[in-house]
Amino acid sequence: MATAGGAARAIHYTIGASQPASHLFEVRCVVARPDAGGQRFALPAWIPGSYLIRDFARHVVTATAHCAGKAVAVEKIDKSTWQCAPCDGPLSFEYSVYAYALSVRGAYLDLRDGFFNGVNVFVAVAGQEHEPVGVTIEPPAGCGDWRVATAMTPAGASLWQFGDYAAADYDELIDHPVAMGRFDIVDFDVAGTAHHLVLSGRHRADTARLRRDVSAVCAQHAALFGELPDMGRYLFLTRVLGEGYGGLEHRSSSALMCQRDELPAGEEKVTKGYRRFLGLVSHEYFHLWHVKRIKPAAFTPYALHEERYTRQLWVFEGVTSYYDDLALVRSGVIETADYLALVGETLANVFSVPGHRVQSLADSSFDAWTKFYKPTPNTPNAVVSYYAKGALVALALDLLIRAQSAGRSSLDDVMRALWAQYGAHGVGVPEGGFEALCAEVTELDLAPFFAAAVHGTEPLDLTGPLRDVGIVLTERADAPGRVALGCKLKKHSATVGAVFRHSAAERAGLAPGDHLVALDGLKISGRNWSELLKPYRSGDTATLHVFRRDELLALDATFDDAPPRKWRLKIDAAAPPDCAARREAWLGTAVGGASAPINA
Ligand code: ZN
Repeated sequence: MATAGGAARAIHYTIGASQPASHLFEVRCVVARPDAGGQRFALPAWIPGSYLIRDFARHVVTATAHCAGKAVAVEKIDKSTWQCAPCDGPLSFEYSVYAYALSVRGAYLDLRDGFFNGVNVFVAVAGQEHEPVGVTIEPPAGCGDWRVATAMTPAGASLWQFGDYAAADYDELIDHPVAMGRFDIVDFDVAGTAHHLVLSGRHRADTARLRRDVSAVCAQHAALFGELPDMGRYLFLTRVLGEGYGGLEHRSSSALMCQRDELPAGEEKVTKGYRRFLGLVSHEYFHLWHVKRIKPAAFTPYALHEERYTRQLWVFEGVTSYYDDLALVRSGVIETADYLALVGETLANVFSVPGHRVQSLADSSFDAWTKFYKPTPNTPNAVVSYYAKGALVALALDLLIRAQSAGRSSLDDVMRALWAQYGAHGVGVPEGGFEALCAEVTELDLAPFFAAAVHGTEPLDLTGPLRDVGIVLTERADAPGRVALGCKLKKHSATVGAVFRHSAAERAGLAPGDHLVALDGLKISGRNWSELLKPYRSGDTATLHVFRRDELLALDATFDDAPPRKWRLKIDAAAPPDCAARREAWLGTAVGGASAPINA
């Protein structure tokens, strides 16, 4: 029933599935007081946190409407909107949604489990987006033993059970993803609030270890901001897979996808995979403040029918990417050397591809919709990641503030000010607002830094700032003396994925999609490529046979030295003691320091 649970709200959704093997969710939206001129319903074109037009309405298969037992005409009037004929009395709009997208941004349903975001399945009722809504989540047919995991407010449903839920408005409704199936649930507490790490999918993870490490990372973020946002409880909805990775933040939960072999299985050391999983957890949890509450004015409120532009995505994703790894070392979950290795990897990701010389962080943010989120073979030459370079700029900024203020201020102070001034009050950060607040909080002239790092394309100098905290940064070739062609092959294949600008490959005429056949008459497989290059030296020439579509080409290539591919950060044991003290204050490794780790 539309008003199950006795919650007679003006808008009520019921979601179920009569044949889960068809991957179809069936949804009914009952509107007590429909628009007298004819009610419109619409699905969002994008999901907050992921800046790509996805047109969720394309997954709607059928749509009908009824009033007082009689059919009401429904007409689609644009890609995302349905128009119902006028009717007198409560209107029921029924539709089915195909759900077989294994993604934190999509909806999924099979005989084993289900998942959806509100934007995938709940239509907005035009003109009534601010009305409170009720939701009945029914078990898919034959799945009575499943449980439900969502941070949505129960309105009669018991913990982890199907039944009635509620949201204050449409904005809240679509910010509580729902997982259903069979779970393992790891409970812990952060600053007095219940937290749950929900694991679906096959795994044999050491849940005690997960509880210890994840709670320590969460507590670290809570300590940085000084308080948790107001929320009843927090859920990490985690789908464990053989292969896959992703995360999406929400106001009191996050949706994660991770690989089975990334979860701890009894070993004491933090493996590379586990470090990646903890980094993901840390990243999405930081968004609880920074993105979900401190957000660009352009997203306040969200307008989900079309693109919304901001030059600040680097502030949100870049700063978050800086703190996600930093929190791992500050909370004591990883060692300093591991943290420095992560920074080295980020440096390689940004500076070993040419795009950082072409696109600024501000432009990368602005064009996220059509560039970062729509990669092509030319992306490495034209685009810089506002995540990765943004994280490095945040690192450089933090070290600069610490150095110029003689340790009195840091980026931590800026984050707390962002929370106090914007996030805690739901005020959007205007364009340029972060830069202005940095200057205000630190009383430093940071304009030249931002002009170069955010609006320019010159390489970022981290050597000096790192030396100031007793860390030596070196760039070196993967294998000194080796040559390179300057192209990237697709995984496990001899097909060219990308050709870097100004490279030997570009000069030779190699193009994305070319299939490499032979180098000086020797067969090329995806695996032996670096072996084949070994005998050559910079300036040597070779004949490269490739297929472009179905035509065989012979290209003359002249090799270059392989560029630096590795950035190594190492603690300088001989650095003066004040450098070590600054490093400990920054990494929170000093006992009783300003950023001392808080282990929950
Ligand atoms: Zn993020």
